[in-house]
Amino acid sequence: MTAAWIDGKALALKVRARVAEDVRAYGAPVCLATVLVGDDPASHVYVGSKHKASHEAGIESRDHRFASDTPEIEILDLIAELNADDDVDGILVQLPLPEHMDEPKVLRSVDPAKDVDGFHPQNAGLLFLGEPFLVPATPSGVMVMLAEHGVELKGKEAVVVGRSEIVGKPMAMLLLAEHATVTICHSRSANLAEHTRRADVLVAAVGRPGMITPEMVKPGATVIDVGITRTDAGLVGDVDTSVFEVAGLITPVPGGVGPMTIAMLLRNTLTAAQHRRTGVALPGS
Ligand code: NAP
Repeated sequence: MTAAWIDGKALALKVRARVAEDVRAYGAPVCLATVLVGDDPASHVYVGSKHKASHEAGIESRDHRFASDTPEIEILDLIAELNADDDVDGILVQLPLPEHMDEPKVLRSVDPAKDVDGFHPQNAGLLFLGEPFLVPATPSGVMVMLAEHGVELKGKEAVVVGRSEIVGKPMAMLLLAEHATVTICHSRSANLAEHTRRADVLVAAVGRPGMITPEMVKPGATVIDVGITRTDAGLVGDVDTSVFEVAGLITPVPGGVGPMTIAMLLRNTLTAAQHRRTGVALPGS
């Protein structure tokens, strides 16, 4: 068997075009503010791509960049200003922050109604309670990919490798909401392959190049590779390329989950704008 590819690039363009249409129909300005601290080259590239994509979707953006030795209080003050600024709909703090900063504290200072990354405990809690509002962009992009390809989830075995707040945990919650039977694996999981081989849908979100090998995959399974590692040979995923011979449906790296993440960030920014302008209280508050 050889797998069919899920073309994340093409699907992301489709989602971005839909967001652009919805922004036009919304009629009022929509604005995303990004906050980047430090000189990590990958972060600068990611933030640049987010601004370019925002612009193409008709979303205004504000770009706040700081030196890596900026005191935490300056960032907290800026976030307080952006929270209070009625013209700003979404706030994104690019990770990782420099070591001297308390990352959870900074992320929790973002108004949950503007938290387009979906990292604030209030948004994480709403997802946990089955009332999703702003959901982390990477796992919600994966759900769009699965839906677009008609992947059945109800009653199916879904295995997520990785349990981060950004990808693994929200991914598991979204799959559970669609009635999959979900297993979450991590670095202390014993007999990883025994779990992954049961998966009808396998999501790898670890950051270890090629760690998912063909014998770990059920023939015909849908395999979603979230992992991205920069190597001399370019970007590499967690799933070994030979898994293509076993899987039914598979995402490439690059060109799979990555482009969907930006598309879903734009969608979240519009959702935040629409929600705030209607003056409706945040779900759960
Ligand atoms: P993370 O916070 O480092 O989490 C990695 C997870 O993998 C942890 O839960 C860890 O377990 C688990 N793990 C590590 N070694 C393992 C092993 N040998 N077996 C099983 N599990 C293992 O990373 P992340 O932020 O979730 O990101 C994961 C990957 O996705 C990275 O490559 C990242 O670059 C990529 N990513 C891609 C996108 C995108 O847009 N495509 C977006 C976000 C992230 P413990 O919890 O036990 O430590």
